[in-house]
Amino acid sequence: MGQTYRICLIEGDGIGHEVVPAARRVLEATGLKFEFTEAEAGWETFEKYGTSVPEETVEKIRAADATLFGAATSPTRKVEGFFGAIRYLRKRLDLFANVRPAKYHPVPGAIQGTDLVVVRENTEGLYVEQERRYARGRIAIADRVITYDASYRIAEYALKLAQRRRGKLALVHKANVLPLSDGLFLEAAYDAAKHYPDVEISEVIVDACAMRLVRRPQDFDVLVMENLFGDIISDLTAGLVGGLGIAPSGNIGEEAAIFEPVHGSAPDIAGKGIANPTATILSAAMMLEHLGEKEAAERIERAVDRVLAEGPRTPDLGGDATTEAFTDAVIRALG
Ligand code: ATP
Ligand code: MG
Repeated sequence: MGQTYRICLIEGDGIGHEVVPAARRVLEATGLKFEFTEAEAGWETFEKYGTSVPEETVEKIRAADATLFGAATSPTRKVEGFFGAIRYLRKRLDLFANVRPAKYHPVPGAIQGTDLVVVRENTEGLYVEQERRYARGRIAIADRVITYDASYRIAEYALKLAQRRRGKLALVHKANVLPLSDGLFLEAAYDAAKHYPDVEISEVIVDACAMRLVRRPQDFDVLVMENLFGDIISDLTAGLVGGLGIAPSGNIGEEAAIFEPVHGSAPDIAGKGIANPTATILSAAMMLEHLGEKEAAERIERAVDRVLAEGPRTPDLGGDATTEAFTDAVIRALG
């Protein structure tokens, strides 16, 4: 008898209320045992309680084996006291690794043979948010912080991941221009790599990396990089495999892990029952793999691929299926 996994579900805002329940149904259909708890976060939560992440939510995430998050809306205007839920949770729970796989699925525009993972450092770089202005406002400086420890930790995570995959890791950097900061990132990564002699390491300068990814994404397995490079490169790689609608991600730390679709709350289609749940279902599959249920994760992926190839598809992929009809088809394809 397998173990029971404690999963915290956070729908958040907008289509989060549609795609998270869809992913839950797929999880339940795997035959694994789950104990679900629900928690609140995001804009609607802010309107209700005056905070976008209540303490109770943090506790529920900590108590769970993993969390599945839908999406949270951020207001475009500045609102006193509001902060972005996921950004807050990344900091609060020290979710240091942002993991974004880009894998071929049969959707329009996806490049066949792509199967890579971008591992983005999630705690420092330009995201320390230290900016200043000088000279009566005519000069602005932003600090970009690179530490040995954070670089070592993210490299180690990427090395372990590479070991479980095809054994290749690209260190993405700009040390030619930034030898002190990106040089430190490389130094820490090579120190970590000494303990993983079976992983083949390469170095790629970030601009060349962007070009090579567009031309031959099949050459890459795992890529590791600092925060801003990871932000940009992982959007690029999402584009290589068909865009936002299907891209999953994970925010992983020592004490918690939160999996979420890359897309946002899509207020333009929320409440219509037509959101594509693929990215959230694939995030749930990533979550299962993280929990050690690789086989179940692969079954979900195969089922999703079959439905994406054969239909029915949701309107964003040119079909006319509802979220529910698509999800039903995935569950049938699970067998
Ligand atoms: P947010 O502020 O929450 O990021 P947004 O307005 O930026 O919201 P996104 O969720 O980022 O919206 O989506 C951008 C576009 O892609 C929207 O037109 C949206 O409808 C579409 N879209 C995003 N996710 C999905 C999905 N899962 N299914 C269908 N369409 C989607
Ligand atoms: Mg958005």
